[in-house]
Order: sequence, then C-alpha cells, then structure tokens
Amino acid sequence: MRPNEIIITYGSEAGAMTEALLNAIDIESMIGAKDALIVLKPNLVVAVKPDGGATTHPEIAVAIIEHLKGRGYHNIKIVESAWVGDSTERGFKVNGYYEISSRYGVPLVDVKKDAYVTKKAAGITMEVSKTILECDFLINLPVLKGHCQTAMTCALKNMKGCISDRSKRQFHTQGLHRPIAALNAVRSADLVIVDSICGDLDFEEGGNPVETNRLFAAQDSVLCDAFGASLIGFTKEDVPYIQMTEDLGVGSADLSTLILTQLNEPSEQPLAKPTGRATYLSRHTEERSACSACYGNLIHALKRLDEVGRLKGLSHTISIGQDFKGVEDPQRVGVGICTKGLGKSLAGCPPKAIDMIEFIKELG
Ligand code: SF4
Repeated sequence: MRPNEIIITYGSEAGAMTEALLNAIDIESMIGAKDALIVLKPNLVVAVKPDGGATTHPEIAVAIIEHLKGRGYHNIKIVESAWVGDSTERGFKVNGYYEISSRYGVPLVDVKKDAYVTKKAAGITMEVSKTILECDFLINLPVLKGHCQTAMTCALKNMKGCISDRSKRQFHTQGLHRPIAALNAVRSADLVIVDSICGDLDFEEGGNPVETNRLFAAQDSVLCDAFGASLIGFTKEDVPYIQMTEDLGVGSADLSTLILTQLNEPSEQPLAKPTGRATYLSRHTEERSACSACYGNLIHALKRLDEVGRLKGLSHTISIGQDFKGVEDPQRVGVGICTKGLGKSLAGCPPKAIDMIEFIKELG
C-alpha cells in the first residue's frame, strides 16, 4: 500500500470486506517483526451496537485478528475509552468484545483505567494511554460520521479515545480542533480502516444512521480524513483539524495526489428503513434501485445543503439509481452514471457528496 493510496471496498459483510482490504494491503510488510505489539482502536464512544451509526462493527476487529493470527502475530490488544460519563466496559460488553477477547486471547484495555504518559505537542499538554504509546503498530478503526462540534469525525478525532478523561475535558475547553491535531502529532495510526457502513448524519453518539456500505483503508490519517470529509459532503475547510494536523507534518490532505484503488463496484442493496431525518431529506429524491453508497452520499449532500438554507428553494427532484439506466428524459436531473440519459446528470459511480452539493447548487 502506498502512502498516498486509499483502498475502498463496497458491501455489507464487514468481516469479508475487511479481509479483502487486508489482502490488498500486504500488512505483513507494514508491521514487520512477528512479536510486534499491535493495537486495534475501535470507536466505542457510547455503549450501543453499530447499526445506530456510532460504533465500529466488531466483525472488523475479528477479521483483523484472524488475519494477523494466521500470519503469526499473537501480541494483539484492543484499546478504547468511551466518552466522559459512559463506561467503556459496557461498550465492550454490548458489542461482544469480551467473547472476542476470550476466543482469540486478545486482551482488552480500557484507557480510563490505563496508566498515562504526559505528552506535549503544539502547545497542548495531554495524558496519553501508556499502551498506545508502547505499541509498535496502531490500527485505527473509526466510524465515518457527522459530529455536532467538529462537523465530522473519522481517523484523527477517533484518537481522542487514547487519552485520559481529564485530557478529554481539557480538549473541549481548548476548542477541540487544535488539541486533536496535537494528539495526532504525538501518535497517529499506522493503518486506518474506516467503518463507513452506516455512519450517523449528525451526531457521534448515533441515532441517524445512513447506509453507505463501504470500508476504506489508508496509511495517512490526514489523507483519510480529507477523503472521508468529501464523501459526506465537507471540504477540509469545514473541518479545521484536518489542515491543522497537516500543518504539524502528520500527513497530507492533498486529494489531488490521492491514488484511489476500488476493489469492487458498489451494488444495489436493500436500503435500511430510513430514520426520521433521512426520510425528511429523501423527499427531494426519486430513488429507483440506488446503491446504498450512492444514496447515502446524496442524503449527506442534502443534509449539508439544508444546513445552509439551500434546500427550501430547490425546484428539482434528484433522480438516482440503477433503474434510471437507459432512461432519457430532458426534464429530469440526476446524480450518478446511471442517470446520464437525463437532462442534467452528475457523473461518478458513486459521485462524492461534495460533488453532489456543487451540482445541486448549480441547479438553482
Ligand atoms: S451511479 Fe448507479 S451503479 Fe453507480 S453507485 Fe450510483 S446507483 Fe450504483
């Protein structure tokens, strides 16, 4: 895997998709020594199951553990802490991590109970988990989702689960963005596998999941977040910690140099019953057998336009989906290559939410 590469796969079987990514990555050459301490860092911000759009699908961790154990790596830990006020142990329990731990002999580390090392970067002092600092290879497993304070959360912000609760509170008083960048300058992931199967539209604690049915892997956490932002309708300027982290030399947010490797095509899958928020936004769409990645991106794009008051005046309904293939109708507009026969159509398979936003804005 190249430093400026992102590998993406589509589907709904998180375990099989993770294995496909790992086979494409050549992880052994990245990790090196077989006795390396490998840490998996999922997102268990609250004690809920992944279908709410907040937490990492545990099948991803299982697939990584099986892949690594099959290649002789046995020194693996799962490390996480819930947000302040919630219990990490409850998050482990709800998501089956105790069974995973005993089945594979993989210890669980609750950062709230770990020892800390005080670190300082970019003028920010923080208490960082000793286990995180001691590990040889850190695999970050964030969920790509919206966030009410930082617009979105993905790889860079998921590292906040590696610090003490006291430091988390301090981060909030310091505006979050600068501390998140500083934390990643202390320690960022060696590999990121992003769970973008059904991330929440707005909130890190979930409740408004939108199915997009994809996983992607990156070595560079900054590039990973710049790409993730574009998928759900943000520019890197909308998420200031991305640029701040780049400025600290952690990685590159330059999407013009990105090499995107797509392992398979998105496919039509039954869309989950939309939540109230998604239903409200979907009144602007005509969906006919759309792939979930495509439709999810459109819902995220409509959400961003709604936030800036650009939906009220929208006179077009946006067509989307595979049943528009071959349809020629100059009166309609659509997104995705399937709608290329319509009067106006945005290319891409699937197009990113950020491109959908520009396309819909130009419709007037
Ligand atoms: S453009 Fe068509 S085939 Fe491609 S992701 Fe969208 S709905 Fe699926």
